[in-house]
Amino acid sequence: MKHRFIKIPSAISENLCKSFGRFCSSMLMSNDSSKAAFVHVLLFLLASNLGVSAAQMKTVDDFRAAATKANAVLTIPDWEQTPEAVEAAMKNAIAKANASLDRIGAQDPSRVTFRSTVVALDGVTYEANLAANRATIIKETNTNPAMRTAAENAVKAFEDWAVGVDYREDVYKAIKAFADTRPKLSGEDEKLLKETLRDYRRAGLELPPDQRKEVEEFRKELSKLGTDFDTNIVKSNAPVMFSKADLDGLPESFFASPGIKTGDDVYTVMANVTWQFNTVQENAKSEVTRKQLYLIRETLAKDKNVPVLNQMLDLRNKIALRLGYKSWDDYQTEVKMARTGTNAEKYINDLVTGIQPKFGSEVAELQKLKAACTNDPNAKIMVWDWRYYSNQLNKQKYAVDKEALRAYFPFQKVFDGMFNIYQSIFGLKFEKIVAPYKWIDDLQLYLVTDSATGEPLGMFYLDMFPREGKFNHFAQFVIISGKLLPNGKYQRPTVALLCNFPPANGDAPSLMTHQDVETLFHEFGHALHSIVTRAKYGRFAGTNVPGDFVEAPSQMLQNWVWDKKVLDTFAADYRDPVQKNSRRNREEAQRRKAGKRRRALSAAVRVRFTRSCSARSTSRRNAIRFRCDIEPDLGKSLFAD
Ligand SMILES: [Zn+2]
Repeated sequence: MKHRFIKIPSAISENLCKSFGRFCSSMLMSNDSSKAAFVHVLLFLLASNLGVSAAQMKTVDDFRAAATKANAVLTIPDWEQTPEAVEAAMKNAIAKANASLDRIGAQDPSRVTFRSTVVALDGVTYEANLAANRATIIKETNTNPAMRTAAENAVKAFEDWAVGVDYREDVYKAIKAFADTRPKLSGEDEKLLKETLRDYRRAGLELPPDQRKEVEEFRKELSKLGTDFDTNIVKSNAPVMFSKADLDGLPESFFASPGIKTGDDVYTVMANVTWQFNTVQENAKSEVTRKQLYLIRETLAKDKNVPVLNQMLDLRNKIALRLGYKSWDDYQTEVKMARTGTNAEKYINDLVTGIQPKFGSEVAELQKLKAACTNDPNAKIMVWDWRYYSNQLNKQKYAVDKEALRAYFPFQKVFDGMFNIYQSIFGLKFEKIVAPYKWIDDLQLYLVTDSATGEPLGMFYLDMFPREGKFNHFAQFVIISGKLLPNGKYQRPTVALLCNFPPANGDAPSLMTHQDVETLFHEFGHALHSIVTRAKYGRFAGTNVPGDFVEAPSQMLQNWVWDKKVLDTFAADYRDPVQKNSRRNREEAQRRKAGKRRRALSAAVRVRFTRSCSARSTSRRNAIRFRCDIEPDLGKSLFAD
């Protein structure tokens, strides 16, 4: 109940609801008749509250005047609501973009300008991307499978078209004609021209026509396969049935979560649902259970995706070689800060070497714990073990129980706390506004303003809980990117956070783990990175930065959740919000270093594996088998001795 109340928008109703939340829990313990009376009072208050908040909640129109003053444009996406509309929107966007490309290509080469070529091309891809971004959100979030399928097809159509844009000979000639004038550009303009020309080279435009055609076909095929790969994972449901004994060690709250108990002593865990998987990995005493769930999760969509991945690796290798690169990793890293595959490999190896001594001693500690727990002096830490023994170690050594800590991180409190921190660090103000269209009831829309000047900076949607058919990780999606429009106004961004935090459970609100809180701070960091942009061109706006830089701002910002002072501002037991979690916050901060090293090494191993897939085409099939069938052996070699 409380959870639902505190979601009611507007500051006034939130305050009312918080005080009633406390009242509520004590009343619910009293007798039935007073419960019934209380519920009536509550419903009345809720109804009147809703009336007040709906009337009081601002809309985007309330910010139009401030936007005009700041020469900015705010846009709530015009969401397609039928499969036909999704298909038509993409068709129209592509037709419109093609007409614009025709105009760029039809110019007299002697009269081309920066604006009529390079800037115009940035504008064309920006416009078409708006339709593609909406389709992507629909594909990942819509509750109607027909909508998701239509959106998936629209995304594929867009990707196919987008690859084709690089091969518009007429457009390339116009751009080249402008580049040949050796223009004196600087800053973002110079970067735009340079990178546009680099794109053409990387697409094969400098190759003879037959080879260019081949690269085009390979790239189109690769982009389709990439979409298939992701879709296969999103579509895979992996229910695994356990008895209560199999799941010994898990908290009672897990068994009581919606959808878990599915029969007489039958508990269904979805291996593809991250929070369910993590809860089992961290708490299940049975190694058989942990191993079974781990293998199922790590091989999601394996039958479909192994052939897809093989084809992708083959195509990547062909593209790289055709374009004159030594390997796909050189091709990929050319546009990143690493610049070459060798640099990337060195970076990872240095990281692994540097972290190894500490990592080794920590694994030895986990191993000792496993040996003691299993009465097997030779027990080794396997890849499905480390979360469990790490959790045990935290409980024993630091007296930190991750499950018990959830009570200190109720969803809305965490959000409010995070908002306060980000608002004060960046001098921003977040206000919940009316979302004219919602794909789910609890979708929220916020508007961000610069608190000093009142300038509206952009908007973000929050879609926070898992459901059937939804994107199953945590990510920020750009819907409308920032850009200086041809009319001189600045288009402010609109983005969405799609997350999968554990849902509310009965009377208890959604309770997050500390790791969930860190994830939230991280993803929200991406949202702000997108929203506060001032880049002139869509190509460079917000998170459109080199792939090996894009995580840096979020990785820095997520560190706030390891600061005791920061945690003290919002972490408090939801059953008794007055009591701060001070001691626990300190212990959680102590635990930090150990966990961080284990995660860093595991990330490095994954990156190294990815490189081995892309770099060595001859061994790629073995590499895939390694990933999909015997990755647990990675644990054996990594964690043993
Ligand atoms: Zn990230």
